[in-house]
Amino acid sequence: MQIKNTLRLYNTLTREIEDFVPGNDRKVGVYACGPTVYDYTHIGHIRKYVFDDVLVRLLRYLAYDVTHVMNITDVGHLVSDADTGEDKLEKGARREGKTAWDVAKFYEDYFFKTMDQVLVSRPDVICRATEYIPEQISLIQKLEALGFTYTISDGVYFDSTKFANYGKLAGFIPEKQLAGARVEQVAGKKHATDFALWKLTSAGIKRDMEWESPWGKGFPGWHIECSAMSMKFLGDTIDIHTGGIDHIPIHHTNEIAQSEAATGKQFVKYWIHHNFLLVNGTKMSKSLDNYYTLEDIVKRSFMPVALRYLFLQTHYRQESNFTWEALDAAQTAYRELKSQVAVIKTQVEKGERQSLSEEKLVKVNNLRKEFKDVIRMDLNTPQTLACVWQILKSNVPVIDKYELLMICDEILGLGLLEVASASSYIEPIPGEIEKLLRLRSQLRSEKKFNEADRVRKDIENKGYTVIDEPESSSVKKN
Ligand code: AMP
Ligand code: ZN
Repeated sequence: MQIKNTLRLYNTLTREIEDFVPGNDRKVGVYACGPTVYDYTHIGHIRKYVFDDVLVRLLRYLAYDVTHVMNITDVGHLVSDADTGEDKLEKGARREGKTAWDVAKFYEDYFFKTMDQVLVSRPDVICRATEYIPEQISLIQKLEALGFTYTISDGVYFDSTKFANYGKLAGFIPEKQLAGARVEQVAGKKHATDFALWKLTSAGIKRDMEWESPWGKGFPGWHIECSAMSMKFLGDTIDIHTGGIDHIPIHHTNEIAQSEAATGKQFVKYWIHHNFLLVNGTKMSKSLDNYYTLEDIVKRSFMPVALRYLFLQTHYRQESNFTWEALDAAQTAYRELKSQVAVIKTQVEKGERQSLSEEKLVKVNNLRKEFKDVIRMDLNTPQTLACVWQILKSNVPVIDKYELLMICDEILGLGLLEVASASSYIEPIPGEIEKLLRLRSQLRSEKKFNEADRVRKDIENKGYTVIDEPESSSVKKN
């Protein structure tokens, strides 16, 4: 197989791996569907945003001038994708006895704190749905003027039958595919695949978030925010749009319909969709309450960045099943990698130089080419990690090794070359202490409390304090 010298990406729209050619020379617009901020960010989200981060890093490494935009869904995402049920934010507010505004702020902050710990860089533009209501209203007005909408007592709806090729992203025939699927329907909605652009506040319902509009007081449907904000920041056609595979049949299908109906132009050139992180074979999700947060990971003495390493071991289009054993192995590998890189770094700083023979020059060039080829081939991070180990094991001069590793790390973002800093890198708990902690948990679960106490004292004598919580135990350095 011949691999070309360009970035190749799998495009959900064409179901093919294509050469990446942006619309405007070196300028690239990337729009990422961001989190719905009504509950804790879990490690399934981390998987998605780590890959967005790697994609943007790779584009920048390839000298593209990237604008990375990510939205924050802080209104309008209903419990059911069929435009019924409560707004997730308002539901979160009731659950916590706070306003929807406070809930959104709290979970947005939590999201970014989580992302900082796994070394995910901030997007260039972070846009909240609630801050761009006028833009959403004017897009709906445009669709209304063009005859794509109808209004019922519940709100303004997009008529999916008026848009040719509705469902092209998911590859379905709308009515046939979804007639039985969306059982719960809004009264007055004409077709199962029609979707809300603007929802009117129902009489007698109190909402924290609502706005005046030409159709009455209410709030935007979930999909319109992404079309309005991406157009505002990236223009009518975006180069790359990312999201989880759950977004293909509804959210992204509807984004395409409303955007292309309004502009008459292609909305997105390359659709990139990430597969899920599973737990016991089921999607990890807030609504199923089967998730772990980053805090759960840290409590069990794992470094946040070990999670990043773990996720990079699986290709983004494949499912990944989370287990503690896999995380343990990823952490061991990451530590080994980091310590080997540290040795090389010291050698380079000491100025240890070896001459580059003809044979080694060829080797260095081959290592560089191989690594670049695999990462450019639809972000093959598992093979890229294999290349990193190959570089480490090779007998090329340390200065060349170091340079190659710098490039790898620029793209993978594992923080291999950085000195530990408090915000991005939590000092690892020594393996010996981790083992003792696990032994103690095991003894406690077997109700061998005297023995467990002896292990605790052992840990304390080694300079660590044990913290017990209902679900787990952790240690803190004294
Ligand atoms: P949400 O906050 O649920 O709207 O999700 C934000 C993004 O995270 C979406 O692109 C989802 O597809 C993605 N996501 C949610 N759960 C998972 C998971 N278990 N694995 C991978 N991505 C996920
Ligand atoms: Zn979106």
